[in-house]
Amino acid sequence: MKIKKIEVFRGKLELAKVFRISYGEWKSVDTVFIKTVLDNGSIGWGEAPPAPEITGDSVETIIGSVKYLSSFIKKMNIDNINGIDKMLRNKLKNNSAALNGLINSIIEALSKSLNLSPLRVLGYGEPINEVLTDITIGLDKPDTMVNDSINWIEKGFKILKVKLGGPENLDIERVKRIRDAVGSHIRIRVDANQAWSPKEAIRISRALERYDIEMIEQPVKAYDLKGLKYVRDRSEIPIIADEAIHNLRNLKLFIESDAIDGVNIKLSKAGGLIEASRMIEMAKAFGKELMIGCMIESSLGIAIASHLVASTGAFRYVDLDSDITLESQPVIKPIKRSIDRILLESGSGFGVEPDENRLDKVFSITFTTF
Ligand SMILES: [Mg+2]
Repeated sequence: MKIKKIEVFRGKLELAKVFRISYGEWKSVDTVFIKTVLDNGSIGWGEAPPAPEITGDSVETIIGSVKYLSSFIKKMNIDNINGIDKMLRNKLKNNSAALNGLINSIIEALSKSLNLSPLRVLGYGEPINEVLTDITIGLDKPDTMVNDSINWIEKGFKILKVKLGGPENLDIERVKRIRDAVGSHIRIRVDANQAWSPKEAIRISRALERYDIEMIEQPVKAYDLKGLKYVRDRSEIPIIADEAIHNLRNLKLFIESDAIDGVNIKLSKAGGLIEASRMIEMAKAFGKELMIGCMIESSLGIAIASHLVASTGAFRYVDLDSDITLESQPVIKPIKRSIDRILLESGSGFGVEPDENRLDKVFSITFTTF
C-alpha cells in the first residue's frame, strides 16, 4: 500500500471559557488537521496541535514540516509503518506535533485498509470500550477553583487535576479549599506546570500530604533535571514529569537519573503513537507510572490518545479532557462520552471525523508516480 494524497487543513477550536495555567491562557486556538489518502481509497486523519511553549511547534511550522516530510513518503510502502516512523524522525528532528499528526493519519488509513482497530496495526490488542478520565481545574482564584471543582463533581466527575502556579501559600490554600469542598472520596492530583523552585516544591509537597494528593506533575522547570531529582528524593507524593520529557531519549535520561516516579506522555510531544508506544514499553520495564495527557485538542486527538489507553492498558493516570472544554470544534462526528468515561467503538479507525467544510485547506499533494 502506498500513499496517494496528503492534505493539510487549518482549523479553529473555541473554548467555552478562558483556560489558564502557570504560563499562559487561551480562549481559542488554531490547530492543524492532516488527512492521508491511500492508493486503495482508505482515509486517515491526524491532529497536530501547536503548543509553541512546550514542543516549539506553531501552526506555520507544522504546515511547513508536513509539506517537507511529504516528499519522503511518496514512494514508500506503508505496510512497514515502524520503518516510516523511523525514517521521518531521521529526516526531521523535533517538530513533534507535525510528526504526530502525520504518523497518526497514516496509522488510521492503514487501520481502515486492514479492517483492524488502530493499535492492532502496532501490535497491541483490541481496545476496551471505556476510558475513565479526570477533569482539569484551570488556575484561578481559590473561590473560582472551588466552584469549578464542585460543578464538575455535580456533573459526575470523580477525579480532579488541579492546576497550580504559585505563590506557595496560595497553591496550598487552593488545594486545601478544594479538598474541604469536595470531600475525601474524590481523587485529586495537581500540576504545577514548572512554577516552583525545588525548595518551594518540597515545602508545598509536605504541606499537601494531608490533603491526600495522588501525584504532583512537573513541579520545577522542564530543563531542571537535578532540581526534579532533588524534589523526588524528598517528596512523599509521587513526582510525574510532563514538560521535561517529550520522547524516548528524554525518558531514558530521566529514568537513568532517578528523577521521576512517572511520566506524562502526550502524543504531540512524542510525535505520534509509535514513539509513544516505545516510551510505554521503556517506562514499564523500569517500573515507572504512566500518565497520558493532551494539548488543547479536538475530539480527534482525544480519540487517538484514548485508543492508546484502551489497547495498551498501561496508563494509571488519564487526563484526556480538552474536548469537553470546547464550545465549538470542526468535527462532524465527535467522540462519545458518558460523563467521565470516553466510549470507544470497536472496528477500524479512531471513530472521529473532522468536518472539511469548517476547515481551511492549506495544501494538497497528490503523488502520481507510484
Ligand atoms: Mg502537565
